[in-house]
Amino acid sequence: METICICCPIGCRLKVEKIDGEIVVTGNSCPRGKDYGISEFTFPKRVLTTSLVFPNVTYTLKTTTALPKERVKEALKEIKKIGYKECNIGDVLIKNIINSDADVVVTGKIENA
Ligand code: SF4
Repeated sequence: METICICCPIGCRLKVEKIDGEIVVTGNSCPRGKDYGISEFTFPKRVLTTSLVFPNVTYTLKTTTALPKERVKEALKEIKKIGYKECNIGDVLIKNIINSDADVVVTGKIENA
């Protein structure tokens, strides 16, 4: 597979292959890229960022840790079920979303005009 390392702004183009049972990463300029390539090849994960928009306020949200990439849509569906409630930055809206180790926290609050 080919992917771009997102660990720093350089964005090295990685090639990740399994050769003789070993995962080989090329194209990386540092060890972080090798680790990222192996992680993307074996168990891709993503930190989820999104927002909830209500008539008077918009909350920006983020998971505290990365979720399995294939379960991000499932997590988004859970988040979209949240009804309006008064929140502040740092509040936890959902603990252990989709039975992962991640909590969903409020990272921003914007009063709508
Ligand atoms: S491999 Fe290293 S230098 Fe290249 S994008 Fe990743 S972290 Fe940055």
